[in-house]
Amino acid sequence: MSSLTVWVDGEFLSVDDTRASLMAHGLHYGTGVFEGIRAYDTNRGPAIFRLDDHMARFSAGADALAMNVDVKAMGQASLELLRRNGQSTAYVRPLSYFESGGLALDVAPLTPKSFVTTLPWKSHLGDAADDTGVKLRTSSHRRTPAAAVPALKLCGNYVNSIIAKLESTRAGYDEALFIDDDGYVCEATGENVFMVKGGRVTAVDHHDALSGITKASVMTLTGAESRRVHRDELLDADEVFLTGTSAEVAWVSEFDGRQFARNVATREIAMLYQDVVHGRRPEHESWLTWA
Ligand code: PMP
Repeated sequence: MSSLTVWVDGEFLSVDDTRASLMAHGLHYGTGVFEGIRAYDTNRGPAIFRLDDHMARFSAGADALAMNVDVKAMGQASLELLRRNGQSTAYVRPLSYFESGGLALDVAPLTPKSFVTTLPWKSHLGDAADDTGVKLRTSSHRRTPAAAVPALKLCGNYVNSIIAKLESTRAGYDEALFIDDDGYVCEATGENVFMVKGGRVTAVDHHDALSGITKASVMTLTGAESRRVHRDELLDADEVFLTGTSAEVAWVSEFDGRQFARNVATREIAMLYQDVVHGRRPEHESWLTWA
């Protein structure tokens, strides 16, 4: 099997021919930015969902690190990689990090390295999420406050998510929920949170949470409001679901011991989302960029 082609600083290379330095600043301090984007099969060929929105968030992350990156070229490279790799579905991962220039904390002298890879798609919460739902547990860890590190996809900040997720999986759950000191829901480790109560769909709003592109899409599709939600309210909801590029619309079957049945509204929203990402809703075609 031919190896995967990746884009590195303007060049298309075999992934086997790429290398990174042990002295990379990004390796030592997490000084990098990334995106998680999906390409879906449609009846007009593979298309990337909300590419421009993902690249705009990527650009904001690069700016936060004063990293000079050709974001437009990376977006174009994503589409070209799907063609070169003959992929109809993929997880698209652009990443820029500081590669060389030393290990001091002033980033001004550093040089970034950028790459894009289109990985064969593998479910992130696991295929089990579809059948059995997600078992969600409140974390004892707090989300990094946005006042400390902006709520963007900065590499180092994901240690926070990983530690929280580890606690949850060790306790036999699938995913961790961050709440704040006052008990308000923030987000999961890689997803935003929604609830359904009395037929009304509500997106959880929190200043420390990532502004999710799937969340914004689902809000448009459902007319959901976005507001602060307390953990007690989540426990009292009829349905709870998580949204993310990877997880898509994933129903929560258990939250801190409270069981939820397989849920009607969530199932409908999940199906609608699948229609949209696969280009079966002409009114939302502007969200797709065909390769
Ligand atoms: N929160 C966090 C911490 C995430 O990493 C993600 C995944 N990018 C999300 C929420 C969901 O964002 P999106 O819908 O843009 O993928």
